[in-house]
Amino acid sequence: MYLKFLGVGAAFNYFTNNNCAYFKQNGKLYIFDMGEKICDKILALHLLDDVDEIVVLITHLHSDHIGSLEPFLYWIHFFSKKTVKVFYPLKDNLKKLLQLTGLDFDFEIYNDYSLIKDLKVEPVEVPHIPGSYAYFVYSKEINFYYSGDTSELLDRAVRELKSGKIDEMYHEVTTSLNAMIHTHISVLNNAFNMEERKKITLMHLANEETLNEGKKAGYNIALEEKVHG
Ligand SMILES: [Zn+2]
Ligand SMILES: [Zn+2]
Repeated sequence: MYLKFLGVGAAFNYFTNNNCAYFKQNGKLYIFDMGEKICDKILALHLLDDVDEIVVLITHLHSDHIGSLEPFLYWIHFFSKKTVKVFYPLKDNLKKLLQLTGLDFDFEIYNDYSLIKDLKVEPVEVPHIPGSYAYFVYSKEINFYYSGDTSELLDRAVRELKSGKIDEMYHEVTTSLNAMIHTHISVLNNAFNMEERKKITLMHLANEETLNEGKKAGYNIALEEKVHG
């Protein structure tokens, strides 16, 4: 599992932080989403100590995905000289939202992903709420798909995992038949054999039941990194 997780929970899972994954490459921290309490966790784990730049890739605007983006940008503005670049395809919407929360200094949201020089990051719109995106990431070290929140398993992601174009897949999952805006585990089970499931990590978990069903079916399960000491 290439990515590490600061939280693995769906919006109402109070046993773990909101789902949030990260990796570091070439002195940069790449982080998917910044839900509630994620800013605290970044600081508690000293994740910024050995990086010069932070690249935040936003999947959509539900609070469990952007809840601590505003305090994070404030913290950087007041206490750090590091560069932060926040990317989201509908950049004006996110900028407006952050301005309404009172961010009163100059900041930019980017939607030109070619500005990320060291790796290729490609957002793809997915069905969840309007303005929801998954990401394909291609880099020297690894290629992977990160689903964000979505009710659909993308054909392209299935194809690329089976052909080896991507090495890993990180997918949200639900075991509730009522959670229509999420991906039911049976959809993943129908698409992948046991060997392929070893390359897939389930994330954005609502409860223990989802975790156990995922494990039983042979997937990796995202694990929240803990603060020591
Ligand atoms: Zn969510
Ligand atoms: Zn959502």
